[in-house]
Amino acid sequence: MDVIVEPKSRRTIREWNVKAAKMAKNSSNPIRALVDEMKLTPNPDKEMIALSIGDPTVFGNLPPSTVASEAVVEATRSNKFNGYAPCVGYESARVAVAEYTSWPSAPITAKDVVFASGCSGALDLAISVLVNPGQNILLPRPGFSLYKTFADAVGIHVRYYDLIPEKSWEVDLDQMESLMDNDTAAILINNPSNPCGSVFSIKHIREILAVAEKNKVPVIADEIYAHFVFPGHEYISMASQTTTVPILACGGLTKRFLVPGWRMGWVTIHDRHGVFEKEVRAGLTGLSQRTLGPNTLVQGALAKILTQTPSHFFDSTLQAIHRNARICFEALSNVCGLRPVMPQGAMYMMVGIDMDRFPEFKNDKEFTECLVTEQSVFCLPAQCFEYPDYFRIVLTVPEDKISEACDRIAEFCNVHYCREMMDTFY
Ligand SMILES: *Cc1c(COP(=O)(O)O)cnc(C)c1O
Repeated sequence: MDVIVEPKSRRTIREWNVKAAKMAKNSSNPIRALVDEMKLTPNPDKEMIALSIGDPTVFGNLPPSTVASEAVVEATRSNKFNGYAPCVGYESARVAVAEYTSWPSAPITAKDVVFASGCSGALDLAISVLVNPGQNILLPRPGFSLYKTFADAVGIHVRYYDLIPEKSWEVDLDQMESLMDNDTAAILINNPSNPCGSVFSIKHIREILAVAEKNKVPVIADEIYAHFVFPGHEYISMASQTTTVPILACGGLTKRFLVPGWRMGWVTIHDRHGVFEKEVRAGLTGLSQRTLGPNTLVQGALAKILTQTPSHFFDSTLQAIHRNARICFEALSNVCGLRPVMPQGAMYMMVGIDMDRFPEFKNDKEFTECLVTEQSVFCLPAQCFEYPDYFRIVLTVPEDKISEACDRIAEFCNVHYCREMMDTFY
């Protein structure tokens, strides 16, 4: 048989000229970009206190539970978890997550769980499976910047819905609905919230779901701060409050179990009416095959971690963070020109700046920059979260550091606060 050779056009390039692909060029974390261009030169006479990094392990005051570290050691020593797991994850680990994340009103099983490298990996899966380039996704403002990173990389349009600080950062529902059109492929809800530290009530969760239901838009729920709420507040999963809106919930060990480096996250599929049945489930499986799944050792340890971590571990973490939140809130409430918003959970507090009282500074970025220069305290300007005139404080640092940082912030504001404006009223 004759072999037919297709006529080919030959390569003519003779010089090296290798470019990064578009997706890589369009991938960047806005926080890094902003922080890199800030002039951060701490005061040499004052020890630096970074209230900027959302990693609870950096100061060593919040170690993980020994149950978790021992479970990983045991999984490693067993030699049972050195091979490839199925891309979506080991069955035993999927069962453990299904049990851990199920609510009486929203039970799921192992087949509804897909593992990923951290909650970021889970978010990447969820966004990638639901949204095409050219379509749009609704994101919270202020909000976690990584969502936009994923969207920008592939040409997904971002539309921001507003969270209202005066209403404990609840969603502006009318404005959210006004953003929706036929190309809206998903709404992302982050509850409890980074950077706001807000925790939505059942009533508000139902209101959001009603908008999703009315417009038939699926929800991606970033629930990495599940159960991470202060006394008096209640964590409610999105999925537990609807039987009709299909939800991809993203979670993981990172924050509650204080192990960001372990990179263990998951997507759980909540879909009582089979909306995701035809394509989305298979799409998630397909996407999980791109990486062949995450780390197997942590999967091997997962059942033990999720069922045997003692409740006093979670309680003492939350107590420490809550204590810091109250110290910070009280201290900064008495500072002229600042408006701290008391968080209800997660590990952050947003602080509003009355910028017209600080005319030396053009914006929150200049304000926080100068705070580093004079007081060696670094807080992220809320520009990092697409929000002006606020800064975010990370509350996982040791208590003495948070008190010291608040004293210095107060001193800074006293120096720069402009009282003169009052006079113009008289
Ligand atoms: C920390 C964080 C994540 C990322 O979690 P990883 O498991 O480290 O990937 C996702 N969403 C929010 C809102 C976060 O604060």
